[in-house]
Amino acid sequence: MTRPLLMIPGPIEFSEDVLAAMAQPTASHVDPAFIAIFGQALTDLRAVFLADDSYQPLILAGSGTLAMDTAAANLVEGGDRVLVVDTGYFSQRMAAICRRYGGIVDLLSAPPGDTISADQVAAQLPQAAYALVAVTHVDTSTGVLTDVAGISAAAKAAGALVIVDGVCAAAGEEMRQQAWGADVYFTASQKAIGVPPGLALLLASPAALGKWRARRTPVASYYSDWAEWLPIMAAYEGRRPAYFATPAVNLIVALGVSLRRILAEGMDDVFARHRLLGDAVKAGIAALGLGQVPTQPTHAAHTLTCPRYPAGVDASLLAHVRAAGAILAGGLHPAIRNDYFRIGHMGAVTANDVLATLAALERGLRRAGYPVEPGLALAAAQGVMVGGA
Ligand code: PMP
Repeated sequence: MTRPLLMIPGPIEFSEDVLAAMAQPTASHVDPAFIAIFGQALTDLRAVFLADDSYQPLILAGSGTLAMDTAAANLVEGGDRVLVVDTGYFSQRMAAICRRYGGIVDLLSAPPGDTISADQVAAQLPQAAYALVAVTHVDTSTGVLTDVAGISAAAKAAGALVIVDGVCAAAGEEMRQQAWGADVYFTASQKAIGVPPGLALLLASPAALGKWRARRTPVASYYSDWAEWLPIMAAYEGRRPAYFATPAVNLIVALGVSLRRILAEGMDDVFARHRLLGDAVKAGIAALGLGQVPTQPTHAAHTLTCPRYPAGVDASLLAHVRAAGAILAGGLHPAIRNDYFRIGHMGAVTANDVLATLAALERGLRRAGYPVEPGLALAAAQGVMVGGA
């Protein structure tokens, strides 16, 4: 029996060269060869997020939640007004973190499956002296994509900084951090960046660093404090040894390989591949007669798909699909948790992976008692891929 494909919205299938890099003997964190790899990864992160040298990269040992925590710990000060654009579970987590650091948080909440437009954000911004706007690029609990460019422009016009949770988007959805004016963009290693879980990756704009430098109060998190990390990141990029807390050496070596792969493909091609494969999955799901959580295709993510269970089918479907060869994820948003499931398609994902997953879904649906004409989803997905080739 072959191993089923891991097609959840992170962790994902990792490429063999990334896994092989992880398996190398662990180097000293101050070994010159490792310093060079870490330094290059910091530089490459800017290229992947499409920002220049004035932006500060950080690579930390921890998950995506640490990236969220680091952004808030350094940028939110007691009494700061924060507007959280709420498109699901992870936006609400960001709100909770901002409150933990003393932020006064207002939520602009969309019903599950809806998005919040840049116009809605622009209309809310004059209501208070917002210091920060936080937005989730792709909310993994709803598959909803937000207009980061439009929301960032609205925030800038109102004098607020923008924090973007790109955990389920970075290196998949189109993202141009500098051109779009996002001040902190962050992700985690286990999604489209293509490295096993354990790294938090952030890129901060000069304006974000300026707000941090102007703080009146110390950063309340010891581990996240940029005062500790910025000299370390500068040292590694300058190919000098430094220590604050031991970096995740093997993960960073693997990250170096994955970032090189992403840049070799080219960011525009990476975005286009995710768009095409995402559209192919969605066409397959529609052909099967299943609805989707995002209420409009225009705000549906390309890194994951959130199909609704058809009538008479529940979460037991996922075991059938797994037996047929693909591991999918259940629902996450508390309000609709039992109504839908999630298919991740990001990172090194290929057309083959997408077709194998839809085929496993067809077989799983039949075993779950839902009538499927074999090949229906595959034909629809192929139609998109042939059209886009
Ligand atoms: N934000 C988003 C959009 C996510 O999808 C996730 C993880 N699924 C997180 C934050 C938190 O990341 P982690 O689970 O790695 O802490």
